[in-house]
Amino acid sequence: MIKVKARAVNGLNKPFEVVNIDRRDLEPSDVLIDIKYCGICHSDIHHVKGEWKKETYPLVPGHEITGIVAEVGKDVTKHKAGDRVGVGCMVDSCRECDNCKNGNEQYCLKGNTLTYGAVDKYGEFTQGGYSTKIVVDEDFVLRIPDGLELDSAAPLLCAGITTYSPLLHWHAGPGKKIAVIGLGGLGHMAVKLAHALGAEVSVLSQTLSKQEDGLAFGADKYYATSNEETFKELKNSFDLIINTVSAGINVDDYLSLLSLDGSIVNVGASPDPLSLNVFSLLGLRRSFAGSLIGGIKETQQMLDFCADNNIKAEIELINANDIDSAYKRVESSDVRYRFVIDTSTI
Ligand code: NAP
Ligand code: ZN
Ligand code: ZN
Repeated sequence: MIKVKARAVNGLNKPFEVVNIDRRDLEPSDVLIDIKYCGICHSDIHHVKGEWKKETYPLVPGHEITGIVAEVGKDVTKHKAGDRVGVGCMVDSCRECDNCKNGNEQYCLKGNTLTYGAVDKYGEFTQGGYSTKIVVDEDFVLRIPDGLELDSAAPLLCAGITTYSPLLHWHAGPGKKIAVIGLGGLGHMAVKLAHALGAEVSVLSQTLSKQEDGLAFGADKYYATSNEETFKELKNSFDLIINTVSAGINVDDYLSLLSLDGSIVNVGASPDPLSLNVFSLLGLRRSFAGSLIGGIKETQQMLDFCADNNIKAEIELINANDIDSAYKRVESSDVRYRFVIDTSTI
């Protein structure tokens, strides 16, 4: 076992503390990564607060990991010591089901292994990236292209792929009108990616306080959802709406903004159920869908796309001692636009 320093919570509503965790010794297909940076995703907060399910503690969150390969197992061919790499939300899957074979490991029919808060095939409880080292099977390790910095690339491993995947699947591109609800970690990536794909992009934010930033990220238009006029003005106007809100929304209000055959894709993971009136769907053959992160091949494609198009996350680099206060700021929608932990401070 490899002893590793990490930051963990040891129960509901407990602050982060320094812990030592074990990483397994390298299996033949494993990669040992010196973690340099790890983003803070709102999913980490949902987990830590037990909003989705009962957690096992101590819990080390973090699934937006970038770092440098320190060592590889004897059968590893895809990565070598010194490589710049990343790890996202999954560290394994069955690799045999139809979905895995088709590059949709995130939808593995036997259930993929999440980077933290899951039990892996060795029977070990997985622990995430708020730590200094991690051991991951080579197939779930991504290559960070030269054009990307390791700190601002970290959020691409979750926020980037979670928005890129539905944008591609629902054909975002020239001639398409797309709206993004919520300008936080996922939302600001959705704006940058949809703009780079050539779509016309609107932001639907609670207020206009981040309008200047949203337009700088590539949005064409920016609206406040607190203003009732917004819903009248934008009725029947979008082909695709990506909802990144971490809490409940009034689905019917947003469905009314879709044009014929338009879709809302929900990537936000509200702990509370969402409800809708089916008549909001029927009239204009609208859809309400969901999407979960993205496959491994698609994640590499997204990283390469970001390097080619000069896309990075807007980050606030923090010391590991400031994770608790960063969580509070994310919860109050005061994130500009992703906190990233400098793991040398762990
Ligand atoms: P975030 O940085 O906190 O951004 C969420 C944004 O939603 C906020 O910045 C805010 O934007 C808006 N918002 C927050 N509370 C709201 C409320 N009560 N009403 C209306 N708008 C509100 O969070 P994130 O890291 O982007 O994650 C967003 C959600 O996606 C979380 O639930 C997370 O768990 C989930 N997620 C899902 C996947 C997936 O695979 N589907 C992957 C990663 C994360 P404005 O200030 O602009 O309104
Ligand atoms: Zn995430
Ligand atoms: Zn599978």
